[in-house]
Amino acid sequence: MLGGMSWESTASYYHALNQGVKLSLGGFHSAKICMVSVDFAEIEILQQQGRWEETAIILSRAAQSIENGGADFLLICTNTMHKVADEIAASISIPILHIADATAKELLDDNISRVGLLGTRFTMEQEFYKGRLSKKYGIEVLVPDDAEKTIVHDVIYKELVQGNVIDRSREKYLAIIDSLHQRGAQAIILGCTEIALLIQQHHTEVPVYDTTAIHAAEAVRMALV
Ligand code: GLU
Repeated sequence: MLGGMSWESTASYYHALNQGVKLSLGGFHSAKICMVSVDFAEIEILQQQGRWEETAIILSRAAQSIENGGADFLLICTNTMHKVADEIAASISIPILHIADATAKELLDDNISRVGLLGTRFTMEQEFYKGRLSKKYGIEVLVPDDAEKTIVHDVIYKELVQGNVIDRSREKYLAIIDSLHQRGAQAIILGCTEIALLIQQHHTEVPVYDTTAIHAAEAVRMALV
């Protein structure tokens, strides 16, 4: 696990991976994990400044430590930082289980071909994520309008990555989910690993796909084959 982005969602991953292994194997079983958790403050400032090559260097070093620690494959425990997944992949010899691939697989299994995407502004606007879903899997991706994107992005950075879950923000997210649904989205990707702290399926009738849970579940399947 390449974690710490933020540690709030890394904790969700850790829980989900262990739960998944326990459910599959029972008894005292738990997940064998090698994790490096970075300082998100260092990453966040580089994101803001668009210094992605430097984030790639930090994350590649962390990935190499994970490989040296004996991991068979790598989870980058954030959607946004998959922006530098190719650079990280080039620095290690174990495979990366890409979060967008795991999510696309789940959507296609459920016959969903048009989705709404919530995430950081980077994830909602840039091709590394949306483009992968549409080009590799033929999934049409709708994103919120500009004002809504600002709300979604700000709630992630000002609240969720700091562990603050606020009801008023949930209402705003639910309104955005409804508007994406009205525009034709069959389901919504919670495309930021902290969003599930705020939104769970019981809050809305629109199907939501939690990328943290999906990524962790696919990792458990992959680890146990
Ligand atoms: N965890 C978030 C994501 O899944 C946002 C934090 C980050 O920028 O890595 O995109």
